[in-house]
Amino acid sequence: MAELIFRTGTMDTGKSTLALQTNHNHAARGRRGRLFTSHDRAGAAMVSSRLGLVADALEVAPDLDFWRYTVDALTQGARIDYLICDEAQFYTAEQVDQLAKIVDELQIDVFCFGILTDFRTRLFPGAARLVELADRTEVLQVEALCWCGKRATHNARTENGVMVTEGEVIVVGDVDDLAEQPPAVVDDADVAYEVLCRQHHRRGLTAARARAVSLSPEPLPFV
Ligand SMILES: [Zn+2]
Repeated sequence: MAELIFRTGTMDTGKSTLALQTNHNHAARGRRGRLFTSHDRAGAAMVSSRLGLVADALEVAPDLDFWRYTVDALTQGARIDYLICDEAQFYTAEQVDQLAKIVDELQIDVFCFGILTDFRTRLFPGAARLVELADRTEVLQVEALCWCGKRATHNARTENGVMVTEGEVIVVGDVDDLAEQPPAVVDDADVAYEVLCRQHHRRGLTAARARAVSLSPEPLPFV
């Protein structure tokens, strides 16, 4: 039986690495798949992992119809055994419905990878729909860590080094200082992301701010 599987975690938990590994494992068994992504850090139509792996992929625009795409490909004689869907949090709820239909009606496995919540701590629409529909939702075992050492459960966005909790939901930015591409710029602000534990996300205490606070004689602010 084909399955719809959602593997999730915060940033830095190796989702894209696992997406590429999953693709490799199935391809090595002679199965044929398709790789999809949306707003990958390497730019359009690539799945790239922080560990340096990279593969061509199909970019998921909001108007992509997975069902139509798959049926058309099969009709033209292509063989598809599975779909790998990275950055699935960015997909629309309708696209996730199409993926479930592909699993049920075409018996094609669909492996989705993505973040659950955005920088405002709200569920992404695509992630919410996946939790609702997936046969299994698995939280990745590689734990991302907050600067304090606790498990990082939340994604923070910073603009010019200051944490923000409002703004456009989808802004692909610099994920760390080692990223190859220049940081995204929104209204002339440098956008970056950082993973934090819930307490430090609530208090807006990023690593940089914690460092600055620890160097100042002022007591820690309780917000
Ligand atoms: Zn923390």
